[in-house]
Amino acid sequence: MSLHVLCESDKMATVLDSISLDERKIQEIIKKTKDYAMLHGVLIRTAESPGHSERAHYAPFTLFPSLVPRDALAKVKAIQPHFNKLMHMVAQDMEFLQNCLCNVLKVDDFNKRLWDILQVVTEEGATQPISLGLFRNDYMMDDKKETPVDSLTYVDPTASATVPDSLQMKQIEFNTIAAGAAGHVSHLHNVHRYSLTLAGKQFEDSQVPDNNPAHGLAQGLVEGWKAYGNKRACVLFFVSEPERTRLDQRRLDLEMFMIDRSVHVKYVTFDEMNERGYVRKSDKALLIDDCEVAVVYFRIGYSPANYKSEKDWNTRLMMERSKAIKCPTVQYHLAGTKKVQQELCRPGAVERFIKDDRIARDIRETFVKQYSIDLGEDGDDAIEKAFADPQRYVLKTNREGGGNNVYGEDITCLLSKIKNLEERAGYILMERILPWPQTSYLLKAGSEACLQTVVTEIGIFGVYMGTADKEIYNSVTGHVLRTKNVNSDEGGIMVGLSYLDTPFLI
Ligand code: ADP
Ligand code: MG
Ligand code: MG
Repeated sequence: MSLHVLCESDKMATVLDSISLDERKIQEIIKKTKDYAMLHGVLIRTAESPGHSERAHYAPFTLFPSLVPRDALAKVKAIQPHFNKLMHMVAQDMEFLQNCLCNVLKVDDFNKRLWDILQVVTEEGATQPISLGLFRNDYMMDDKKETPVDSLTYVDPTASATVPDSLQMKQIEFNTIAAGAAGHVSHLHNVHRYSLTLAGKQFEDSQVPDNNPAHGLAQGLVEGWKAYGNKRACVLFFVSEPERTRLDQRRLDLEMFMIDRSVHVKYVTFDEMNERGYVRKSDKALLIDDCEVAVVYFRIGYSPANYKSEKDWNTRLMMERSKAIKCPTVQYHLAGTKKVQQELCRPGAVERFIKDDRIARDIRETFVKQYSIDLGEDGDDAIEKAFADPQRYVLKTNREGGGNNVYGEDITCLLSKIKNLEERAGYILMERILPWPQTSYLLKAGSEACLQTVVTEIGIFGVYMGTADKEIYNSVTGHVLRTKNVNSDEGGIMVGLSYLDTPFLI
């Protein structure tokens, strides 16, 4: 199917609107734009050689940007500093965290181990009062009508090409650890300005706005390094090896270099830290290869699979006990669990932390309904809701990195198995967001580019640094769009489902 046909039918939203392009022209734009993307560093290592930058190609991206209402994006950007602060405060509130997580900890060994680390460092007394967070707050443009809709409605060819009246930015999740894609996306707006121009689209640059989230995140790391107060200390990127998205990480490192050349960045794996890292007894400084560590930036450590042995857990504990600034701290990590996000949806929970009614309301407006399914009457009610209409929900477990959610009839299946078991406390039930469908060409190395019906997830990057009672740094640093075929439940650039994208503001 060519874009020409879809645009003529005037049914589905697309940035090209009424521009018609024949197949030959589309292929020419695709060819040039792929090269332009490489020239702008939209690059990823190949799946076959994830350890070598000699083998890299363009990262998956959309040929054109996706439509996003200007006000909707402005609204979630304006609220981000408050979200940053909220998550910081949640992480400091041990009573709140414990109430949220107590039932999860009984059945979820991974989060229990993180919790145990938190207990140790709390009992010993914090060696480093400062927490640093490089966050990504994810949303979708919800196009839900009042009536129940099943997922097939997504591909309804009568879908409107204009912005639906009911469109609202609704939160998918708040990532507090290893949030990626800032580096990959940091020059994509230039690529999209180019492809749109080739297609003959008239637009202002401000419609495909400047965006360099990697710069703002790098600034956050530099601020952390300064706050540590030792110019000879390094910023440690805690990573896996091999790592396909190393160039996404390197972009942050490069931006740090451009901000302040005196900051030394070191890439270290669990194995290397296990072997050569230690905490100096006299002052609790973290050292590796005689280099003192000012900031540990975790790009690994978010998944049970990252901890291959007890040694890895000991290393996480060691880093947490040190006086290095952790990005994130184990508290931040736990505050980012799906369970905490579900508990924040309860009446009064946001207001426990945010005293300004208007701000609390703006935050709350981004929430869809979420339910605890813990053993007990409320949990039973939530499970009944899911049985009655599973298409309306997503069942989430407390894991990161994609591929962990349960959808549709699989929800019924799973809940039938666990409904009388304590295990069910490891999940939460979330109302399903039905994002606004558009059409787009998705480009991935080794695959034919094809026109698809797609939906978009919008991530807002934020940085927060503070102590228990003092804010030191709070910023919003840009956005990333990740666009996927409408029929794929899960997203993820690395799992091959999502494509980097930028907004075209309307
Ligand atoms: P993870 O931490 O693994 O990324 P997410 O909560 O982001 O977990 O879920 C993974 C993906 O599932 C999201 O990127 C999104 O595509 C989809 N998803 C999650 N929650 C919802 C929801 N409430 N409605 C629709 N899709 C969702
Ligand atoms: Mg996540
Ligand atoms: Mg996610």
